[in-house]
Amino acid sequence: MFTIKGKTGEWEVVVGLETHIEVLSKSKLFSGASADYNPTVTPNTQVSMVDVAMPGMLPVLNEYCVEQAIKFGLGINAEIAHSSRFARKQYFYPDLPQGYQITQATTEPAVVNHGWIEIMSDDGKPKKILIERAHMEQDAAKNKHDMHPAKSFVDYNRSGVMLLEIVTALDVKNPENNSYITSPDEAERYLRQIREIARALGVSKANMEEGSMRADVNVSVRPVGEKTFRTRTETKNMVSFKFIKNHIENEARRQVEIYENGGTVSQDTLRYHQDDGSSSVMRSKEDALDYRYFPDPDLLPLIITDEQIERIRKTMPELPTATRARYIEKFGLPEYDAARLTETVDISHWFDTAVGDKPARAKGVANWMISELFAHPENYDITNEKSGIIDGMRIITPSDLAELVDMVASNEINGKQAKEIFIKMLDGEDGTPRAIADKFGMKQITDTGAIEKIIDEVIANNPGQVEQYKSGKVGLLGFFVGNVMKASGGKANPAIVNELIKKKLG
Ligand code: MN
Repeated sequence: MFTIKGKTGEWEVVVGLETHIEVLSKSKLFSGASADYNPTVTPNTQVSMVDVAMPGMLPVLNEYCVEQAIKFGLGINAEIAHSSRFARKQYFYPDLPQGYQITQATTEPAVVNHGWIEIMSDDGKPKKILIERAHMEQDAAKNKHDMHPAKSFVDYNRSGVMLLEIVTALDVKNPENNSYITSPDEAERYLRQIREIARALGVSKANMEEGSMRADVNVSVRPVGEKTFRTRTETKNMVSFKFIKNHIENEARRQVEIYENGGTVSQDTLRYHQDDGSSSVMRSKEDALDYRYFPDPDLLPLIITDEQIERIRKTMPELPTATRARYIEKFGLPEYDAARLTETVDISHWFDTAVGDKPARAKGVANWMISELFAHPENYDITNEKSGIIDGMRIITPSDLAELVDMVASNEINGKQAKEIFIKMLDGEDGTPRAIADKFGMKQITDTGAIEKIIDEVIANNPGQVEQYKSGKVGLLGFFVGNVMKASGGKANPAIVNELIKKKLG
């Protein structure tokens, strides 16, 4: 559990996130203009009359965008509203030509409500994070202040592209159920899960560096054990896991200090400073009232039928939570391993490819991936598209690892030899593990006659230790096993060695 130790005791941090993901679609939410706004596209070439709010232009809802919202809603175990409305959120800024953003009012149900996702909590256990809603809205254009010393420009390509805003919930009536984010690390894991779900569904690239995912971060603190939530501050548009984590921790400490010095935290909107991790007040106390939400008279209520929802449900791929459950139930993996292997869809896909149709491989593959492969990211292609030797680097493929695991399981090689083969692959040795084993004569000795011969030699050479073992110092077993393994050049099967030594020294 993440807490902050203050002068008066321990404090808990409560984090709320409003995550915006840019939704993938060919055209914009309310116009037919291309939704491709990436920086290589010439500014202001993907703009319709609707996107720049020419008088008399009417928005037309893009059905594909609605389907993306439903898909994501199902992906976060949420209820899809059969009826919801679009509203105008008024504010003035050059990147918002309408003078309002078309969104779904926070005071009414959104298209997606009451969902949850599962993350790994700080104590290593699965934890459900409640999601209050996910609503559809338009993105703004992009202001450009760095093109001319005295002028600012606006690129409207992004204006009107669909965003899905995903808002976490605080269960105010049940503040002890701990279904919200309570640490910087949990915030990161939550955002990574949102990203993985969005990617698995093809709803968004959800890439913070590219700006297709950004989060408004709400932070409050309370003494451990307190039952109500205290005042929060909000920092908008954060686009890096590192900064978000840093900000949550710093802001929590700042608030603890205020309370411990007898002050009160005011509900401010903050600006985070990347250079030193501090923040300053941008504006204070902002309420929904300030935006004067009202239903957009240009748009009909959004009606979604059960048939529509069921049709989309049938196309849903397996999502990270279900994948994790499958790894635990079907393969018997520990929760930690299952969590590591489902951190991204690419990782779980790599793992599933290696396991193939042999569930017995799963534990071995999981161990190799987590304890060895993850430490050498340059030696495998996580998208599983490349193989062979690239730029002198041996790319280890799922079938390489599967073969290595199978060879150990069938006693062709022992664990030590497997490790040697793995190291040779890291060092750029080409060929499959079996070919490498052949080339270097790495074959496990399982012939009991041959092993017995070595054991007899070791016993003959160490009469003192034999004496001690027989008088009860059974810890010496490892000494004999080690010597026999060494004498066999590391090739003997350790299980057989163990068994035979025990028998002989009986
Ligand atoms: Mn928003």
